Amino acid sequence: MAKAITIGKESVAPGESKIINYDIARLPSGMMINMPVFVYRSKVEGPVLLLSGGLHGDEVNGIEIIRRMTSEGMFNKLIAGSIIAIPVLNVFGFLNYSREVPDGKDVNRSFPGDSNGSLASRVAWHLTKNILPLIDYGVDFHTGGAQRTNYPQMRYSLVDKNSELIAKAFAAPFTLNSGLIPKSIRHQGSKMGKPIIVFEGGESMRFDELSISEAIDGTKRLLCYLGMINEKYEERKGILLMDSSWIRANRAGLFKPFVDSGDPVQKNQPVGVINDPFGQYEIKVLSKYSGHIIGMNNNPVVHQGDALFHVGLEEGR
Ligand SMILES: [Zn+2]
Repeated sequence: MAKAITIGKESVAPGESKIINYDIARLPSGMMINMPVFVYRSKVEGPVLLLSGGLHGDEVNGIEIIRRMTSEGMFNKLIAGSIIAIPVLNVFGFLNYSREVPDGKDVNRSFPGDSNGSLASRVAWHLTKNILPLIDYGVDFHTGGAQRTNYPQMRYSLVDKNSELIAKAFAAPFTLNSGLIPKSIRHQGSKMGKPIIVFEGGESMRFDELSISEAIDGTKRLLCYLGMINEKYEERKGILLMDSSWIRANRAGLFKPFVDSGDPVQKNQPVGVINDPFGQYEIKVLSKYSGHIIGMNNNPVVHQGDALFHVGLEEGR
């Protein structure tokens, strides 16, 4: 018989569903900020899957993905296991339209965290101590930052076989092997033996319908793979990418891309142009690789060295 799941002072028995308002910290005004946690449980024992968004507070696609899945009742028919869904992990950043917490620190570089540390470190600590020990797997939904858009993609680490299995079951358009960033939630999960994979789609503070629908479809495939729901779904074999690299601006100026996010590119193919605002020069941007555009810059004004295109490579470099 499955045991109760306890978060803070609240317990959720098998077969029950509950919204838990988990206290995080107070605002300077004295108001308590809590992180709503949605728990859905089947009576039948099975995996516990974390679905989380908004670890970077301005990455609204992840928040919307989880909001849609919960409001559409996707987890009301679990045949086994439990879902812990947290739409907004970083409530402080969300309130400020910001990636970070108000002191400028990144929660996703603050794991495992510290109960007496900075605010970012405290938020991370709540997750490390009270949420991660409960789960078997996690999917953390992100979005490109700083005017960069990501084509829908799932990131996992080759060193963690289970993360590879669930990433492939999710079957986003691209599945990318990417190293664990120190002090990230994915790194912390890996250290605790809880494979967490990271979905990336769209750009911050802008909804991207393709990314949102790909994420919902992928989550359904993953839930079927884990035996948690029984639904018809479309089989999909995404493109596997072993590595990725950036094409950067060699000159500053006004940047116009010739290709779109998701497009395949060949080595030395012209993929964009940079000109100065006065019509004095025009420089073609050539792809350094043959691969797939998995992310690109949307800012028309670029400095030397700015990242223009993120290219996914089917074979390692
Ligand atoms: Zn992010």
